[in-house]
Amino acid sequence: MPESALRHSVAETSRLTVVERLNRGSSGNVSARWDDGFLITPSGLPSAEVRPDQVVRMTMAGDAEGDLAPSSEWRFHRDLYSARPEVNAVVHVHSPFAVSLACLRRAIPPFHYMVAVAGGKDIRCAGYATFGSQALSDLVVAAMTDRRACLMANHGLVAVGPDLRLALALAVEVESLCEQYWRASLMGDPVQLSDAEMDEALAKFANYGLR
Ligand code: 13P
Ligand code: ZN
Repeated sequence: MPESALRHSVAETSRLTVVERLNRGSSGNVSARWDDGFLITPSGLPSAEVRPDQVVRMTMAGDAEGDLAPSSEWRFHRDLYSARPEVNAVVHVHSPFAVSLACLRRAIPPFHYMVAVAGGKDIRCAGYATFGSQALSDLVVAAMTDRRACLMANHGLVAVGPDLRLALALAVEVESLCEQYWRASLMGDPVQLSDAEMDEALAKFANYGLR
């Protein structure tokens, strides 16, 4: 894909995080792997209003091109691309139910088979560190081990994918799971699926659409 088309997709995915009610205002950021580095939304702009020409090109060394500052979270985007060759897109959002659970520092347990969509039997909550810090990036990369999504303590959620469409779809799915877990927890202790039941769900996901 030419750089101009990928810039357009990064800006469009940023807009869609607002349409999908995952972000408001300037919360969150989006990137896609490009060439030897990646393209990432600029810092502090409303997520719904990022234009393709405002998307910032970065190297894996952390150098940014152009007048606009890259997202303050470029470190965890960069480190996810370094650690995970299969990852080509990263979506970070402050969606309401994910943030609510993340403020309780609660992982999402296997209360629903769709938890397997993130690649494992739970969806972890990364520990807290200041936004934009290398410490936060290290915590996110660790929480993402063998997973495609994680919550971030007192902050939000991160989802990755082989492309922007699938990373966004996963963020939508994880936010739905957080809402469902939240609502079920209001009425009692959700029954958790067994290891064997989750193993079956994970095996089926190996041949299912959202990968
Ligand atoms: P940026 O505007 O710098 O991407 O920051 C938004 C955010 O979500 C920080 O965690
Ligand atoms: Zn954030």
